[in-house]
Amino acid sequence: MSRYLNGRLQALAPYVPGEQPKVKLNKLNTNESPFPPAPGVREAVAEAAANLQLYNDLSAAKLTGLLAKTYGLKENQITVSNGSDEILAFAFQAFGGHGLIFPDITYGFYPVWANLFGLDAKTVPLDENFNVDIADYQGNDRCVVIANPNAPTGKALPLSALREIAEKNPDQVLIVDEAYVDFGAESALALVPEFDNVLVVRTFSKSRQLAGARLGFAMGNAALIDDLNRVRFSFHPYNVNTLTQAAGAAALEQPEYFESCRQTIMETRAWTAEQLKALGFTVLDSKANFLFAAAPGRNGAEYQRALREKNILVRYFDLPRIRDFTRITIGTKAQMEQLIQATKEILA
Ligand SMILES: *Cc1c(COP(=O)(O)O)cnc(C)c1O
Repeated sequence: MSRYLNGRLQALAPYVPGEQPKVKLNKLNTNESPFPPAPGVREAVAEAAANLQLYNDLSAAKLTGLLAKTYGLKENQITVSNGSDEILAFAFQAFGGHGLIFPDITYGFYPVWANLFGLDAKTVPLDENFNVDIADYQGNDRCVVIANPNAPTGKALPLSALREIAEKNPDQVLIVDEAYVDFGAESALALVPEFDNVLVVRTFSKSRQLAGARLGFAMGNAALIDDLNRVRFSFHPYNVNTLTQAAGAAALEQPEYFESCRQTIMETRAWTAEQLKALGFTVLDSKANFLFAAAPGRNGAEYQRALREKNILVRYFDLPRIRDFTRITIGTKAQMEQLIQATKEILA
């Protein structure tokens, strides 16, 4: 830290991303897809690269048009961003003026943004089974942020619960972070035509094989989207570069590939959960591309360290209530077989 740093930033505790190793390990720690980008993505990026001397299309017209078609919305109900982290940060600034409320155990970036932007954040404990109790979010005067499925638990709320939160907070925005929704949860997208206060945030990082391209988007009432663009145009209008726009559009043009990848992940998740349970693990019911699991007789840190020695990376969070658990990304079947084999050796 230099002596020039803004005093307000000196106390920040920045978000700590999972390890990105330089050597090839069995990488099950950051919830990326184990599959390559969709067919056609590389060619589309190469073609787009021919125009890199020009600024990118501010409206991201082709990409936004395809998103509108894919999700049955109008173009003005969608905006794209440099990863969903960016659009979440914009949404916190746009709608968090009266403060924010979210669960105690959820995506670790929420409190970081609240601190960075000087917003008041209130956390509500998940219940003893790591479920969101919607009664905790009714009639409050803060912007509600729900990751659904939640991270790192993988547990999901049904659409009816999200509807109730939206209904009971008509004067506040409900931000639903759907980073993992493609792996089996119900989407709040169905609420968008009906509610002017529901913002759905998605990413291409987890279910569309484009984590490194950095592409996210938000869907909601046109006025909410306009608010987000107001923040965007006050910060960085050219936020989604030419190559990423081309990659995202090409990925959307391969719905069968998307479908087969997410089905495979869900099948492999079920297989892995069964194997871990047979070995005595506690495994939460996950609707995401990861499992949140507690090893028998070992805490999360010990299990993570033992796997690391066998060149397998998983994520451990040194936080109250979840120290028994590790978060295990669902990779290919072969990667998960390696995890199970290594786990048997560790427990032996
Ligand atoms: C991974 C993740 C994000 C961020 O995704 P990017 O689009 O890669 O920025 C947002 N929310 C949750 C809950 C996530 O797990």
